[in-house]
Amino acid sequence: MVFYALLCNVDGDGSCSFLSPQAEQLLKSTDIGLVLNLSLREEVLVQKCMGRRLCRHCGKNYNVADIHLAASADGRPEIVMPPLSPPPECAPHLETRADDQEEVIRHRLEVYKHESKPVEEAFRKAGLVIDFELTAGIPETLPRLMPLLESYVGRHAYDRAYRTGHR
Ligand SMILES: [Zn+2]
Repeated sequence: MVFYALLCNVDGDGSCSFLSPQAEQLLKSTDIGLVLNLSLREEVLVQKCMGRRLCRHCGKNYNVADIHLAASADGRPEIVMPPLSPPPECAPHLETRADDQEEVIRHRLEVYKHESKPVEEAFRKAGLVIDFELTAGIPETLPRLMPLLESYVGRHAYDRAYRTGHR
């Protein structure tokens, strides 16, 4: 069985809570075939966290951050992430999460890095990590990501079948 682990660098509030420091234990006890390490430039991540809005009325989430970051001189790609704007009926009811303040977000990121780094390194040493830099929203990202994942999944399944003789 192939198990996929996701290292998400999106939120430090426990939404990726299986990424505890017990990475070695996880590696030993679980059949992990591939780890997808999604990354996003930190300034964009902070802007996106600060742009989150919740509609008190219907409970839907929106994001008012409008990201358009030019490619950097050191070769990092352009990032375009338009806002996820609320419809007019939600607009009067939007609120910001109390802890979506820049200082709190940056602290969450530091905690996240500190706690996830050993996990990431353990997976990396095991040769399981694919790094993928996010440069756009989900609709633009999935068509780039899925073929990449499929190529790894196919290769992994083949390697495993070859090793075990179950071709
Ligand atoms: Zn609403």
